[in-house]
Amino acid sequence: MRAASANRLRCESCGAEMSELDPRTSCPKCGGLLSVEIELPTERGAALRALFDGRPGATPAAARADIHMSGVWRFRELVLPGIADQDLVTQWEGNTPLLARERIARWAEVPNLLLKHEGHNPTGSFKDRGMTVAVSNAVRIGASAVSCASTGNTSASLAAYAAVAGIPAIVLVPAGQVALGKLAQTLAYGARTLLVHGDFDDCLRLARESSERLGVYLANSINPFRIMGQTTIILELLQQLGWRAPDWIVFPAGNLGNTAAFGVALRLARETGLIESMPRLAAVQAEGAAPFARSFRGGFAERKAVRAETVATAIKIGDPASYDRGVRAIRDTNGVVLDVSDPEILEAKAIIDAGGVGCEPASAASVAGARRLARDGTIRRGERVVAVLTGHILKDPGILLEYHKDAGKPFGNTPVEIDAELGAIERVLSEPASTTRGR
Ligand SMILES: *Cc1c(COP(=O)(O)O)cnc(C)c1O
Repeated sequence: MRAASANRLRCESCGAEMSELDPRTSCPKCGGLLSVEIELPTERGAALRALFDGRPGATPAAARADIHMSGVWRFRELVLPGIADQDLVTQWEGNTPLLARERIARWAEVPNLLLKHEGHNPTGSFKDRGMTVAVSNAVRIGASAVSCASTGNTSASLAAYAAVAGIPAIVLVPAGQVALGKLAQTLAYGARTLLVHGDFDDCLRLARESSERLGVYLANSINPFRIMGQTTIILELLQQLGWRAPDWIVFPAGNLGNTAAFGVALRLARETGLIESMPRLAAVQAEGAAPFARSFRGGFAERKAVRAETVATAIKIGDPASYDRGVRAIRDTNGVVLDVSDPEILEAKAIIDAGGVGCEPASAASVAGARRLARDGTIRRGERVVAVLTGHILKDPGILLEYHKDAGKPFGNTPVEIDAELGAIERVLSEPASTTRGR
């Protein structure tokens, strides 16, 4: 075990404090969620911006082998100050592009739309930003094994980072409900993979119980170190915007880890003077898995849970674990929570894919949500909006092939089988394009 710095773990429910090196991931007194309370750097405003901007990762052209090439550890003073370099388990995660794509912006009816594409992370989702911190912490505290419950991306990410660290990983996923790419990655990176007869919420309950019983370090998003890593989605996009905060940040919401992380990131960025104005958060759920949106509509008077059903498996969660901190993030940022239907998600995805950008189904909920908010006037014309694309297009190839089988879908692109002769190609090319491919 290494020496602790001045950071503390603090229970968000009862306020109990613990050492940051304590391996437990929920409050031993009341079971509440923990947060990492970091000691803030002495630099403020321009000095802190200069510190982050001066690091090699801030200018992608600089090809120096340096911890700060990571889009997470570049912001280490706001992520986990004091952790020793030798404990860091990093694959230069983060450093994801902020894309302007006119066709997608036009579809969303948001002219000033930018896409923060987290699918460009090492295992293809934003989960790597949290996992580099959680697994680094597992190394720091000498954990013998790590585990998680997952809808797929967390397990892929944990499997990869545990492999890099040389620690065994155990993952619990709902049998038959994990997208193909995610399951394939998890197996390939070498995690012990348990297919649970149940849904994600069952997997999380089992993971929490078994980690307590077996002394395995839990790397789900209730793990407060994951939250700190995921704050860098926001820090990095603010940096890419020259620290001029956008008006809105729109993103898919399932277990509410990101919702919580985004709230923490914006609080830290304001408190340390990195930004002057507070963006509003818009958390987007799938209609069939929208307990948080329902609670929001009721003024957060009541915590809701549902049996989740949606094509967007990454947000197919009925009882979000980070509910309380999600509420705080939405309140702190004058945010909104909404839900969109599966057909809206799939149409947004088809537009994002056909634009050459591509993303997995859950990610497209952000763009579908932005369109909803623009149409109902919540996002006003001219406002600057960043939509977060959370995962890579290849995560869920099954749904893609299914979608494009049917030429009737918007942007449906059915493959054409031909005989191995030139004439066949000529015949296909002479047909009107609409019969062989989408708009
Ligand atoms: C995990 C995940 C989400 C949901 O994020 P939460 O933090 O659980 O709300 C959304 N999209 C993708 C691709 C994910 O992997």
